[in-house]
Amino acid sequence: MPKVLLLHTGGTLGMAGGRPSALRPAAFFRTLKQRAPELFHLADIELELFSNLDSSEMQPELWSRMAAHLHRRLPDFDGAVVTHGTDTLAYTASALSFMLRGLPRPVVLTGSQRPLGEIRSDARLNLIDAVLSALHGPREVTICFDSHLYRGNRTRKVKVAEYDAFESPNFPVLGTLGVDATYEPGLRPKGPFRLFERLDPRVFLLKTYPGLDPALPLALLPHIRGLVLEAYGAGNFPIDPSLGRSLRPLFAQARERGIPVVVVSQAYRNGVDLTLYESGAAAREEGAIGGADLTPSAALVKLMQALAYHRSPEAVGRFIQTPVAGELTLGRPPVPPSEPRKRGRKPHSR
Ligand code: ASP
Repeated sequence: MPKVLLLHTGGTLGMAGGRPSALRPAAFFRTLKQRAPELFHLADIELELFSNLDSSEMQPELWSRMAAHLHRRLPDFDGAVVTHGTDTLAYTASALSFMLRGLPRPVVLTGSQRPLGEIRSDARLNLIDAVLSALHGPREVTICFDSHLYRGNRTRKVKVAEYDAFESPNFPVLGTLGVDATYEPGLRPKGPFRLFERLDPRVFLLKTYPGLDPALPLALLPHIRGLVLEAYGAGNFPIDPSLGRSLRPLFAQARERGIPVVVVSQAYRNGVDLTLYESGAAAREEGAIGGADLTPSAALVKLMQALAYHRSPEAVGRFIQTPVAGELTLGRPPVPPSEPRKRGRKPHSR
């Protein structure tokens, strides 16, 4: 029998209770054996309890421990499944994808919208699909949810109360689990299996919006080492000094203090292009780093890692703009996966 490590971290999947009281983490492995016994026919599954938390409690220190644990244990298995709450699943998947380089086996994260112990739970099928994907899917950190396998660092949680809770707006799915399960080949491991577990969480994620007083983010600068700006559209933000809310001084002062600023888009699809409009060009002049089509959560986690391994803002910028685990598209902004690709505009993603 193939061997799969199942590492439980918590989330709705393993909770009990519910209206009128609140859902709370509960004894998961007993419920798992009762509600999904067929899992143990698919593989020899070793159950390990990492934590039992609502994933809103997830923190960078836990990612480092989780990555180190997987790095140690994975070589003894054919693949791993990590059960996790959906709220921060995209962040954790991004973190693991950057920390575990040259993955020799699939690491599949999954969760559910209803607890495994409930009637009409989506947990049972998600678990079965995740185990199958850990055995046959690509050697990447993926998220298996509602019959689809996604590149983890490309996902966003898009729904709170429906089963298709995740999407990967700028990258095609890596697997479809219908009557048959089909998978894309995914990333080719580059180099040996290595752990990069350090992160510097002293970063801030700022969203620009009409009315944002620049004095607020300026006051943050002494307390942070890196900033991700969720700009409008192609990477825009106010720069007209006569209107009183220009963010240009924020870029200038961040540069003076050696704080790298990564610009990503609030728009759901495509990415930033800092050459398109005046504000993007101004940001570039002040040393801003264009985050292409990185999701805001992937950009934030990647910046935490960049700051832990690189000193100069230039080195941080180069690291952010180079794909580590297929998290961003190089070259021209990508064509959305649902639209036919025009010839000669093929996005290039490693
Ligand atoms: N609050 C839960 C969590 O993220 C939601 C879920 O798992 O769906 O742990």
